[in-house]
Amino acid sequence: MIAENIQLIQAKINEAAAKSGRSTDEVKLIAVSKRFPASVVKEAHAAGQIFFGENYIQEVQLKKDQVPPEVKFHFIGHLQSNKAKIAAATCDMIETVDRYKLGKSLDKHLQALDKTMDILAQINIGDDSNKAGAKKDEAEELVKQLGDLPNLRVCGLMTMPPFEQEAELSRIHFRNLRLLAEQLADKGLFPDVKSPDLSMGMSGDFHIAIEEGATIVRVGTAIFGQRLPRS
Ligand SMILES: *Cc1c(COP(=O)(O)O)cnc(C)c1O
Repeated sequence: MIAENIQLIQAKINEAAAKSGRSTDEVKLIAVSKRFPASVVKEAHAAGQIFFGENYIQEVQLKKDQVPPEVKFHFIGHLQSNKAKIAAATCDMIETVDRYKLGKSLDKHLQALDKTMDILAQINIGDDSNKAGAKKDEAEELVKQLGDLPNLRVCGLMTMPPFEQEAELSRIHFRNLRLLAEQLADKGLFPDVKSPDLSMGMSGDFHIAIEEGATIVRVGTAIFGQRLPRS
């Protein structure tokens, strides 16, 4: 089941990329395995999936020890600064750096580990009071500050737009994130990358996000099925 779902999603990624004249290689699929056990991650990995998304640091810690070392974890949840040490040691990318204080904590622990880490700045592009992320007009300052931290590599922006019943309604938010990233790139704020990453799009709307330039899509339900509530 999981293997078939991954194939199906990959086919849809290819289709959306082709439709917008982009190469499939530009889009990385993150399989969001939050609230599923390590056995599920192993099954998906056996089907060729490398990147997994988690939103609780304790879950990353637990699963990391049970899966092959090639498996990579992207952190996509709210990260408390007091969990930065574990995140620095276990994750391959933190997509949700929404404040300088968190960046500073991560940087400190990364220095101690003699390691650099790829991060994204999380932006609340739809200005939704239910969503985390820096406000659009704070993005420049945040990206600039994070860029000064030596052990962080600021690769781009991530967003979770307001929930919409219809995927097409998310398009404007995806477009706005791309335009914002382009503006910041023009100002030289992503010196470490050729072009900034855009992490946007989930099970219901990743095809629209790809048409608007997503380089990372985060897909959970469409691969693994319905999640159980957190107990
Ligand atoms: C849970 C989650 C996803 C995956 O959502 P699905 O609708 O299950 O694909 C993507 N991004 C973030 C930040 C999430 O927390």
